Amino acid sequence: MSEFSPCLDCGACCSTFRVSFYWGESDSAPGGVVPDRLIEQVTPHMSCMQGTNQPQPRCVALMGDVGSAVRCSIYENRSSTCREFPFHGENGLESPDCQRARALHGLPPLPSNPRGPGQAPPVAA
Ligand code: SF4
Ligand code: SF4
Repeated sequence: MSEFSPCLDCGACCSTFRVSFYWGESDSAPGGVVPDRLIEQVTPHMSCMQGTNQPQPRCVALMGDVGSAVRCSIYENRSSTCREFPFHGENGLESPDCQRARALHGLPPLPSNPRGPGQAPPVAA
């Protein structure tokens, strides 16, 4: 996560999408790190975070209130899907899915460069 992170008081994407990934990322597989107890199987080769495969998704690993203070309880062991999901403006890139998730939870859109015109955009750590 970058030094500037709108995610710490958001969490909307963790409560909007099915968070799926290759089953081999589970800690029940060699080299996997995502806790298997928090995963459910989606297809023979894909798993997802429990709680995200339902009409009103919310990842079981998400702590706190969406749009307020939130924390991922498995941050160091989250899946590649989570690691690679950019917030809008991260590295100067657009992230329509981030903006859509925020809008669905009544949160304002993020600016494309939260540091302001002429400043370098935040980068992922
Ligand atoms: S919706 Fe965007 S700002 Fe909110 S937690 Fe996800 S990536 Fe971060
Ligand atoms: S594992 Fe963490 S980052 Fe990934 S969806 Fe769940 S709460 Fe969000």
